[in-house]
Amino acid sequence: MIEADWDVAILGSGPAGLTAAIYCGRAELKTVVITGREIGGQIALTENLENFPGFPEGVPGAEFVQLLQKQAEKFKAQFEFDEITEVDLSSHPFRLKTYGGEFTSKSVIIATGASPRKLGVPGEAEYTGRGVSYCAVCDGFFYRDKKVAVVGGGDSAVEEGIYLTKFADEVIIIHRRDRLRASQLLQDMAFANEKIGFVWDSVVEEIVGDENGVKGVKIRNVKTDERSSLDVEGVFIYIGHEPNTKMFEGQLDMDERGFILTDDHQRTNVEGVFAAGDVQDPLHRQAVVAAGTGAVAAIEAEKFIAALEGRSYPGGP
Ligand code: NAP
Repeated sequence: MIEADWDVAILGSGPAGLTAAIYCGRAELKTVVITGREIGGQIALTENLENFPGFPEGVPGAEFVQLLQKQAEKFKAQFEFDEITEVDLSSHPFRLKTYGGEFTSKSVIIATGASPRKLGVPGEAEYTGRGVSYCAVCDGFFYRDKKVAVVGGGDSAVEEGIYLTKFADEVIIIHRRDRLRASQLLQDMAFANEKIGFVWDSVVEEIVGDENGVKGVKIRNVKTDERSSLDVEGVFIYIGHEPNTKMFEGQLDMDERGFILTDDHQRTNVEGVFAAGDVQDPLHRQAVVAAGTGAVAAIEAEKFIAALEGRSYPGGP
């Protein structure tokens, strides 16, 4: 019999991790959730989750996270409000370190999600938190009656641009092409919104400001190479996400962008290690999809542990 502190360690507490926790807890596995910096991940920052089945009126992201946590705790999953600093998946049981200590686990479900991609231009890092933001729900309130820019042309940029019109006087969406990538519904809403303007075929080359924060952006038209400036007090960047997988490099197989490769059982290349949610999904980024893969990962972890302990699993392998 293999001895370990936990049957399952779930890394991350977004919809994938929390759903996995509900399933693992309910399967009576000794389950720990290492929440990461903030419980809930990206979804906790969503003002209103409108497309998760079962919530016809929508549900605020933060409330949704609380409900999932409550459900997981009902099934005795334990929550550690800590961050993973190191993992060793080279021997079994797996060894994991957090700021608070270290522990072993028979299986691991990685649900560490993804983080906003950075533009990588001068001024971005300098003014982050002083005019540069990746979260309209967190920071939009500070831009009442002001003019802001949104960078990107996908669902996130357009959705958050629309959200920002609740506060800002004017929202300028700066997109590198002449056509949005966002869904038609969002596009229609944005085009119909008088507070939203567009700068097409353009990239932000620099974010400028002073001791009080952002004052504007320097833009280049990619078709004409013409350079111009736009006076704004806030810059919201929505140009996609990058998976949080750095600590698994060299231990798990990933694609060229760093998304963990899984099979249709959410298995990684290391037996007993599963991945779920945005960390292994470059395509969908939906809470319900993440929750679904979290459930699959948990069921597969349960099967793995049953096999490890020589128990049969109902329904077979
Ligand atoms: P995305 O769909 O990948 O869009 C990223 C946008 O940023 C694209 O318009 C892209 O331009 C632009 N971009 C990328 N790198 C850039 C750079 N370096 N400089 C300037 N622009 C750059 O990302 P997302 O909007 O975060 O959405 C991700 C996924 O989540 C999508 O599948 C989306 O449908 C989903 N999502 C759904 C909802 C919803 O259902 N309500 C809400 C949010 C997100 P190009 O168009 O030229 O590539």
